[in-house]
Amino acid sequence: MNEVAETANVSDKIRCDACPVMCFIKVGQTGACDRYANEGGKLTRVDPHVLLNRTLRQGGTVVPFAADKEWDGKILLGPDTFVTAIGAGTTYPDYKPAPFIVSAQVDGVDIVTVVTEGIFSYCGVKVKVDTDRHLGRESATVRAAGEPVGHVTTAEYGSQVLAIGGVAHLTGGSKNEGRVTCETLLDLCNAGPVELTIDDGATVVVRAGHAPIVNGVQEERMRVGCGSATIGMFAKQWFGKVDDVVVVDDHITGVLSEHQAGKFLGVKDTGIKIKGRRSTPGRYFKVAEPGTGWGGTNITDPLAILGPFNKAEAWPGLRLLMVSTTGEHFGYFELDQTLRPVERELPAALSESVARIKENCEPALSSVLFMAGAGGSLRAGVTENPVRLTRSVKDAFTSVTSGGAPVYVWPGGGITFMVDVTSMPEAAFGYVPTPALVAPIEFTLKLADYEVLGGHMSEVRPLSSLIADGHRELPPRPSNPWPFTMPGWRSRS
Ligand code: SF4
Repeated sequence: MNEVAETANVSDKIRCDACPVMCFIKVGQTGACDRYANEGGKLTRVDPHVLLNRTLRQGGTVVPFAADKEWDGKILLGPDTFVTAIGAGTTYPDYKPAPFIVSAQVDGVDIVTVVTEGIFSYCGVKVKVDTDRHLGRESATVRAAGEPVGHVTTAEYGSQVLAIGGVAHLTGGSKNEGRVTCETLLDLCNAGPVELTIDDGATVVVRAGHAPIVNGVQEERMRVGCGSATIGMFAKQWFGKVDDVVVVDDHITGVLSEHQAGKFLGVKDTGIKIKGRRSTPGRYFKVAEPGTGWGGTNITDPLAILGPFNKAEAWPGLRLLMVSTTGEHFGYFELDQTLRPVERELPAALSESVARIKENCEPALSSVLFMAGAGGSLRAGVTENPVRLTRSVKDAFTSVTSGGAPVYVWPGGGITFMVDVTSMPEAAFGYVPTPALVAPIEFTLKLADYEVLGGHMSEVRPLSSLIADGHRELPPRPSNPWPFTMPGWRSRS
């Protein structure tokens, strides 16, 4: 818990100036965002300031709060401790220096970390939903609690990506749209479950790091590949055990006897006829409408995509396997005397291959990447000459982290970054009712470079001041690189 300042006092209220809302807060109460409180006339950031300590074991004991402890004399900021922006607070307007500008010695070099909880109106999340099922057409509106909060964007290999949030939904629609968008982003970023409905599409519950639930059914696995790729991968395992295989896929349905993989093995023509648009041999587009049935199509009966077999090539007893791209759906058929497929029990030799498809499918997850632009006024809290910070980030003199987690900074203008929310400490995000999301951001660079940058050198804090303010120590996530050893961090001197 950080005591921030005594600000404008109106009778027993104090005014919080950490965001444009400028709440007047009574003694013992919190402001509109629940992040700041009036504690005995002092404006206080109510959540503890999070430090990462790599000497703590992941999942081990966490020092919950140090406000009431005497400093034990340990060097707080050294190579094993990293100051995150979580709980650090925000300064507003931005020309004021960031709340914490702290120095540390790493490998004999003085470095500085500038931290702030950025208030982002220009932000959103990209949600990757691992599913073969059709969630909605590209560009369809995604809603939460009935309000438009985003849209369906591209389908990727075994996944559907949703774009949620963005300034147009936060500020460009109705007040309720902005509020619901902000709530949705906050829940998604803090790895909570969120139910989203897609216009003329599915209802999906997503939660970072968890399997998506599509129309009430929990997704188990993502596809092994498209229909054509599946033919390529498993052709050899089918050869000799079956005469033809169709891998049903909404995007590219594969047919063994026509596919290059089948030709290579010497699979003979079967006279099979697929309803759909033939792309290249053994690869068909649009065999059905998209849906939540076989291979992301709307079909429940795979024979619906077959036309009559060519009598000149097919033969009674011809063995046909039809399977989806996850192995979740499959059927085995043999042609009768009239060359019509009749379903039979799947032979043991083929059930092995279906099981192999399933085995090769990875677990389906929802992934949430937070994306925001930090190239605006926030930079003034770091340096008096904001463009120098942008250049310094681009030139890799300054490393950017979010809650100590690595970020990807987009090329081009600004400091537009993306971070996997599951790589960050829990509950790292907050909000303000403007509406906007509050996200931690840290800039780390050599102290000498910070001076060159026009940094707020007089604001570099003594280590002991962090002890006095209280903090919470957490172990870093083992999969994250330690912020002081991030690749790309280098120095001009
Ligand atoms: S919404 Fe929160 S940060 Fe903004 S003024 Fe009110 S208490 Fe302060």
